[in-house]
Amino acid sequence: MNAKIDLPGHAQYPHLFSPLDLGHTQLRNRCIMGSMHTGLEELPDGFERMAAFYAERAAGDVGMIITGGISPNEEGGMAITDEQGNPLASASKLNTQEEAAGHRMVTDAVHEAAPDCKICLQILHMGALAYNEGAVAPSPVRSRIGAFSPAELDEEGIEKQIADHAYCATLAKQSGYDGVEIIGSAGYLLSTFLVEKTNQRTDQWGGSYENRMRFSVEVIRRVREAVGKDFIVIFRIAAMDMLEGGMSWEEIALLAKAVEQAGASMISTHFVWHEAQVPTIATMVPRRAFTGVTKRVRGEVSVPVITSNRINMPDVAEAVLADGDADLVSMARPMLADAELVKKAAEGRTEEINTCIACNQACLDHAFAGKTTSCLVNPRACHETVLNWGPTEQPKNIAVVGAGPAGLAYATVAAERGHAVTLYDAADEIGGQFNLAKQVPGKEEFHETIRYYRAMMTKYQVTMCLGQRVDAQALVDAGFDHVVVATGISPRAPDISGIDHDKVVGYIDAIRGNKPIGEKVAVIGAGGIGFDVTELITHQGKSSALDIELFAKEWGVDFDNHPRGGVTGVEPVVNKADREVWLMQRKDTPVGRGLGKTTGWTKRILLNRRGVNMVNAVEYVRIDDSGLHVLIGGQPKTFEVDTVIICAGQVPERGLYDDLMIKGVSADLIGGAFEAVELDAKTAINQATHLAAAV
Ligand code: FAD
Ligand code: NAP
Ligand code: SF4
Repeated sequence: MNAKIDLPGHAQYPHLFSPLDLGHTQLRNRCIMGSMHTGLEELPDGFERMAAFYAERAAGDVGMIITGGISPNEEGGMAITDEQGNPLASASKLNTQEEAAGHRMVTDAVHEAAPDCKICLQILHMGALAYNEGAVAPSPVRSRIGAFSPAELDEEGIEKQIADHAYCATLAKQSGYDGVEIIGSAGYLLSTFLVEKTNQRTDQWGGSYENRMRFSVEVIRRVREAVGKDFIVIFRIAAMDMLEGGMSWEEIALLAKAVEQAGASMISTHFVWHEAQVPTIATMVPRRAFTGVTKRVRGEVSVPVITSNRINMPDVAEAVLADGDADLVSMARPMLADAELVKKAAEGRTEEINTCIACNQACLDHAFAGKTTSCLVNPRACHETVLNWGPTEQPKNIAVVGAGPAGLAYATVAAERGHAVTLYDAADEIGGQFNLAKQVPGKEEFHETIRYYRAMMTKYQVTMCLGQRVDAQALVDAGFDHVVVATGISPRAPDISGIDHDKVVGYIDAIRGNKPIGEKVAVIGAGGIGFDVTELITHQGKSSALDIELFAKEWGVDFDNHPRGGVTGVEPVVNKADREVWLMQRKDTPVGRGLGKTTGWTKRILLNRRGVNMVNAVEYVRIDDSGLHVLIGGQPKTFEVDTVIICAGQVPERGLYDDLMIKGVSADLIGGAFEAVELDAKTAINQATHLAAAV
């Protein structure tokens, strides 16, 4: 490898910063921004917003950008309609000259921001997963997660799909893209040709594996023919699809070689079909868990191979490359969290990187809900044209009370803008409730957010007053121009007879280990905190988020032998909890339904496997020496537990704000102190950032 060494990070991360020669062109480093659907694609001003979004990442030194998936035709994408059901012009398709002109805005912005940054269009034909009544597939097999039954393609239809891929790539080239990535994984069109479950054809496109591979190979061959030699063509392969009866290792290796032969200039490894039941990007997945699989693919081909999934910091990327697992590292969500990740690494400012904590709360959960993507730790992501700030013209002397996510986000932005900020917290450390969250096994990444804010407090010279519980008079006496109250919440004490009984423990004490927890436990409240506390008290040994082998055992993945799909015939090894736990709620909906769409299922599966009893439609009656007495469906029942942990939500902690109002002090109220119901860190940081941008 031949790294530049004119910046401190170049010497620290020599593999990451070595350029890659592709023959007709060069990548400036080994870091790629992976493809993500941003939701900007469908907005009326989507091209302007995408241009700003991608240009910031290009200016942040990433080597190459892969756009969100764009369909090569109507049937491969989302059918987007207005409220009356009329089809809307959609930027998430590229098969007309008019759409190509829109894409030119994006490529020009990126190349202007950084002439040596490459940008490739991802061609995504969703096949059976298209949210579209006209969905097509090799066979009429509806996916477990698909909205429609796809129509079977006939010979003419197959030719059309291949031709549409080639035409889309031609238009991409005309629009100024440096290449295309074609997605051949995840349960989308190309991958459904590959496996027997979704390809039941008996013609030249089905049956033998050679026939099932034909569609992917033909797409690559025809795309290469259409775009010529000097254009990047990446094939995204399912290197381990996590499906029972999925692809075998031999089939994957054959496909990798065949697409290389057909003209792919790079292969990008993808893990999982969307319908599989193994988490691959959630925060409970260890960093770089899948790069060993990429290494195997790399051994089969001579083109550069890209790896991905849970690589969120430059030291992780450097280690992956140094170990020879891949030629390039793709980071997608980390580029939402910090547009300047690569630049900061190059300049030796790793401490200043705002790390993706893999929560999915503002990215994937938004995408699945049809909302514009953003990022919990960086609300500017995908909002580059609408959320901005610069130096203030009227610097103020501001006190921020509370160093949880809300107070920290406010202090960062206000101090960056030139206000003099003093930050108070009653605790001896910053972080607020994130200091509890980080103790939950599988949530270790929350340490990174606290580390980032610590670096921001130093960088922007915020005056730190930790270990100080301030009151209104002290703030008045200090003579601040403005006070921001970010004092968070108090846990709700539900009105249940016996709530003061010795066996009742609050969630803060349970997490901090301040009080003993018995062998039989009732957890009252099954929201995010109820699930986290249950995880903590049923977990044994090391956190599997920190150990790839443990993670593989827990989820039934065999990385060593790579059976079909990586999972066929592999049983998860479950550490049954030593204690018996009942996790309960009053609602009659399934327990855990309110958790995040893309992560909630992982938590439900894990706790179910550990033997946690989930109970809904509970009416709490009394807590006494014999346990927790409830009514279920009107019938009395006693849970003979020795501990009852209360996770029943929270109420705002706003006494300080009320006192400031009485004294006529200029003040804002933010975060949990403003509104505790459904308040999470995403809302807290977003609200604080908007207010600080305007103060
Ligand atoms: P807090 O984080 O509560 O911070 C308030 C701070 O104010 C505290 O540090 C307190 O010491 C200080 N303070 C209060 N009064 C005073 C005073 N008078 N003087 C000085 N200091 C004072 N959210 C998510 O989005 N995703 C998650 O995965 C997630 N997991 C969680 C897991 C757990 C176990 C817990 C407990 C919470 C979790 N949350 C999660 C919720 C998230 O942490 C909160 O929404 C967020 O911390 C609220 O931020 P905040 O700044 O408003 O308040
Ligand atoms: P929450 O999600 O609102 O859950 C509160 C739970 O308490 C619910 O199960 C509710 O269910 C129950 N409850 C409410 N009032 C009650 C009462 N008076 N008596 C008994 N039970 C009552 O709040 P949380 O769990 O405290 O979490 C706080 C915030 O942090 C939330 O916004 C949450 O999203 C966020 N968080 C997120 C994650 C994550 O992984 N994304 C993890 C932790 C926390 P019933 O009303 O049905 O009983
Ligand atoms: Fe990462 Fe969470 Fe931000 Fe998504 S919302 S990019 S997972 S930190």
